[in-house]
Amino acid sequence: MASSSFDVVVIGGGPGGYVAAIRASQLGFKTAVIDRDRLGGICLNWGCIPTKALLKNAELYDHLKNGAEWGIECDNIRFDFKKIVERSRRVADKMASGVDFLMKKNKVTPIYGVAKIIAPGKVRVETADGRRDIEGKHIIIATGARPRAIPGVEFDHEFIISSKEAMFLGQCPKSMVVIGAGAIGIEFAYFYSVLGTKVTVLEAQDSILPIEDREISAVVHKSLKHRGVDIRTEAFVDGVQKVGGGVEVTFRKGKDGKPETVKADKCLMAIGVQGNIANIGLEQVGIAVERNHIKVDRFCRTNVEGFYAIGDVIGPPWLAHVASAEAVVCVEALAGHDPHPINYDNIPGCTYCQPQVASVGLTEEKCKAQGLEYKVGKFPFRASGKAVASGEAEGMVKILFGARYGEILGAHIVGAEATEMIAELGLAKALEATLDDIHGTIHAHPTMSEAMMEAAAAAAGVAIHI
Ligand code: NAD
Repeated sequence: MASSSFDVVVIGGGPGGYVAAIRASQLGFKTAVIDRDRLGGICLNWGCIPTKALLKNAELYDHLKNGAEWGIECDNIRFDFKKIVERSRRVADKMASGVDFLMKKNKVTPIYGVAKIIAPGKVRVETADGRRDIEGKHIIIATGARPRAIPGVEFDHEFIISSKEAMFLGQCPKSMVVIGAGAIGIEFAYFYSVLGTKVTVLEAQDSILPIEDREISAVVHKSLKHRGVDIRTEAFVDGVQKVGGGVEVTFRKGKDGKPETVKADKCLMAIGVQGNIANIGLEQVGIAVERNHIKVDRFCRTNVEGFYAIGDVIGPPWLAHVASAEAVVCVEALAGHDPHPINYDNIPGCTYCQPQVASVGLTEEKCKAQGLEYKVGKFPFRASGKAVASGEAEGMVKILFGARYGEILGAHIVGAEATEMIAELGLAKALEATLDDIHGTIHAHPTMSEAMMEAAAAAAGVAIHI
């Protein structure tokens, strides 16, 4: 039995784990990262990156279909679903090989196999070549999360699918029921509806993208409806049956509603995720768990010395960029540095349907619920020269400022480049920039980002273009 000893052992090689491994190695630690699969995690292999490739295909196809509006005549526009999926897989392969390169460059030892904690400072890995015991002074758990299913319903991976299978179906389904209108549900609803699938979205809350500002989700709702997506909110799903070559989904409108059904070729269940905490040996050393996630302090330390946890396995927000940020804070803290703990009030969230949605900070509903006094500034893209010239007039920027000092409480963008633009407002919020700072910063003309300056101006009552 081979045995090896490291300063830092990371279990899980996603955007939390591989980033932790790189940072540890940069700080001079002898580091290993263990994964049962390819490095890169869900994000790179089955999440953020391959879905962005699929979504880009949908955008391109949508533009070509509407070419006549632009004076570009394209006859007989069609797509090859297999090739769309292949492109997405190639993108994931390319990015995964980039992570392998980073491991080599940073002298991190990758170990492929299934890891389990067996004692303080000890991890056992079942590799293709047999069992291997690894010692680590510091062990970082970064095992991620997996899709949750409705109680009593199981993924069969053919008809009742998760986002993973939705990424590489053999053919484009004629119809699909999407359960859950969070980021995953809405991105796939957009993707498949553009390709011509008849999509029904069932969401238990009273709005799609329910964590977003209501005015912003309403823009996406309207846009998807316009595309023909059948959206049912306050639709609580409690059953999915396989029938013939498809599925029948049962839902109720409200708690006491009558059961209704909808049939489709496929059912994508996107109702959230749960931490991967089973079979990794947490109980061997007594690592505390709360609501299916590992409990940590603000430096990602568990209750057991020498063990840390980062990323989706420690709970919301389940986002790749949060996992990577936690990785750096965790490693720097265990190295004896003095990193700033993460400010969870300043994390951008993005949904990559069209129009895109991006936000940071509080929604207007939360400002109200917290009794905050605020000013709102809004600027619609239909008043932006760049947006109109680009055929991207749908959507708006909405910024909420504290009434007294003008600090940013929340910033929301729905529109074509929303996910790129939000970085400006995230930085502004982090630096405690005020309404006057954003308004007073000259933004290049013509750009989509002028809308942020104009939204600030609108909050001050001095907008020029609206
Ligand atoms: P989510 O928690 O964001 O959304 C799930 C939705 O399902 C909720 O709106 C919930 O009300 C609804 N729901 C739950 N049970 C239901 C039921 N029985 N019937 C009807 N609706 C029901 O989860 P997700 O979209 O699966 O995404 C998982 C995580 O991954 C999220 O935290 C998300 O932010 C993250 N993610 C982010 C991105 C991105 O940044 N673009 C992309 C994918 C996933």
